[in-house]
Amino acid sequence: MKVLSNEHVIYYFNQENTAQFQVEDGETFWVETDDCYSGQITDESVKRPDIDISIMDCSVGPIFVHGALPGDTLCVEILAIQFAPQGVMVTSKGLGVLGERIEQPDTKIIPIRDGFAYFSDSIRLPLTPMIGVCGVAPKAGLNIHCAVPGDHGGNLDTKLITVGSRLYLPVEQEGAGLAIGDLHACMGDGELSGTGIETPGRICIRTTVRHDRPISRPVIETRDSLYFLASAATLDEAIHTAVADGASFLQEKLSLNFPDAYRLLSATCDIQISQVVNDWKTVRLHCPKFDTKIETL
Ligand code: CA
Ligand code: CA
Repeated sequence: MKVLSNEHVIYYFNQENTAQFQVEDGETFWVETDDCYSGQITDESVKRPDIDISIMDCSVGPIFVHGALPGDTLCVEILAIQFAPQGVMVTSKGLGVLGERIEQPDTKIIPIRDGFAYFSDSIRLPLTPMIGVCGVAPKAGLNIHCAVPGDHGGNLDTKLITVGSRLYLPVEQEGAGLAIGDLHACMGDGELSGTGIETPGRICIRTTVRHDRPISRPVIETRDSLYFLASAATLDEAIHTAVADGASFLQEKLSLNFPDAYRLLSATCDIQISQVVNDWKTVRLHCPKFDTKIETL
């Protein structure tokens, strides 16, 4: 099986990047990722203000997926995630929801072994592996830093982008221009202090192209649910977009008029927060597969 190395990374998603890897429609392969700091935090003496944040959230790619054309949907199925033996969490003034309470920057190295993150001698956390950044080339003319989420995916920081999930992304360029990075050993909804447990690692994915189901924004599928993701400058805007996408989906799949789709959505779906600490906020509409007609996207 192919292993794509972290020697080729991007810092911006755009259509000008040259493809660094090629995979087939339906191929399964591994991607080796650095941590979100591009490995700059080597030990606890290195604080966040010491590092170059312009190379944060480096993402391995672009990966050219044969058969993907503009208007198609790329399905990224996450099959396995493996971690390095340690992760890192920084705090720094202004970082995260309560960043004003941090006076001195601080770095904490967190060992990872046997399925746990060892936060301290007395606190160990079961791993909740997830991928922070996964995206494709955006619409022509856009140049979006890997630290920013959007309709192309990118820094979605959504804990459901994990083993067993499928992430669907809208293809805007031939080959899709997939890139992936920013692994987290653990992260809660919101990513409230500004980081997860950041770690290098390896991700096994399968990329499949769908020609029959165009989308405008990322969608996640799990065994029992679909999640419509939206990112925007404010949570209110992101919620509006995610709910509109969910209503359109139910209207189309169940052949409903808008008021009925809207009522059904209100009766069955949940709005959930993915992250509130990036330049744009990300939310998701959780739509359970309550009817056989909505068993997939
Ligand atoms: Ca991130
Ligand atoms: Ca991160």
